[in-house]
Amino acid sequence: MPSPTDTEFGYELCVCRWAELAWPPADEAGSESDPQRDSVALVARQIGTKQRRWDTIIVECNPAALRQRASFGDSELDSDLLHVVRNAPAEWQWYQDALPDPGYPWRYVREAVHRAADRGCLNTRKQGNRIEIKQIAPYPDWVQRLIAIENKPDLDASAADQLADQLEHDVETGLADEVWVATTKTGATVEPALLESLPVEAGILTTDFSEGVASDAAQVAWHPTTLTPTHDSEYRRSRRLELAERAYGRGWRSYHTTMRPDCRHFQLEREGRLLIPWCAAKACNQTAASCSRSCDKFEPEPPTWRMKQWPLEGGPGAAIKRLLAKRADRNPSL
Ligand code: SF4
Repeated sequence: MPSPTDTEFGYELCVCRWAELAWPPADEAGSESDPQRDSVALVARQIGTKQRRWDTIIVECNPAALRQRASFGDSELDSDLLHVVRNAPAEWQWYQDALPDPGYPWRYVREAVHRAADRGCLNTRKQGNRIEIKQIAPYPDWVQRLIAIENKPDLDASAADQLADQLEHDVETGLADEVWVATTKTGATVEPALLESLPVEAGILTTDFSEGVASDAAQVAWHPTTLTPTHDSEYRRSRRLELAERAYGRGWRSYHTTMRPDCRHFQLEREGRLLIPWCAAKACNQTAASCSRSCDKFEPEPPTWRMKQWPLEGGPGAAIKRLLAKRADRNPSL
């Protein structure tokens, strides 16, 4: 019987679920790395920049500030919206007086002002032919640290070599505060991952999901070094906030939006509270890439399935989408 961790995708979902349960990891002595830390972990997957995409990303957040962030809605704020809401004044002001010069035409800022108002993130009013803006609340400082994890269930020498360049890039840019590699525990006296040529700044987590995804399913084999950027510029702060916003809006369970739950072979396999896609046609945990429009085994749900509780509920595919959307809620107890 194949295990969900046989594929990198299934392994990635296990790591995300574990991080949601147990971040920050316990060290070898079984105590948390910083018990005083007052933060909550928000977990997302496949988020990054144009140059670099991380498998798992954890945003450590200030709990009170995270609640304040919720007043700006459930969806992510992109860079244009962030420019507006972060700089919106407490009192009514013409938007061109209130906001810093964006360095590009103001008409694009005006468009972002309208989008922000439509989403309830900004107050606007017309004074003559001028648009005035006022904040709905100060945009909170909710992001404490960004943690990036690369998931490599089988970290052999060639996988480590490929990863080394990417991790070197992470260390150089310092966009994340820590980078980690998660890999399957072998039980060897010295875990093989420690012998590979990875940058010493990267932490190593060894995992054992053979008994399911429990909070003790991952241990620290090597502690990371906190990365220090060469300069703490506004550019870096903005990119980090954009990444955190993407993580906030997308989470890690939104694979139902890119895979094919409308295929008759799409099923969900339960691992504790974790739901992992299962393809009945291929008898495996399919990857997000293979479960796509180009899949040659795709078959739509028979119309009779969809008619069962039509028109309110739809067929099994619609039910799976609803379930995953509900799970995509940031409340891990669902
Ligand atoms: S047959 Fe293809 S599209 Fe259908 S569930 Fe399997 S992988 Fe996805």
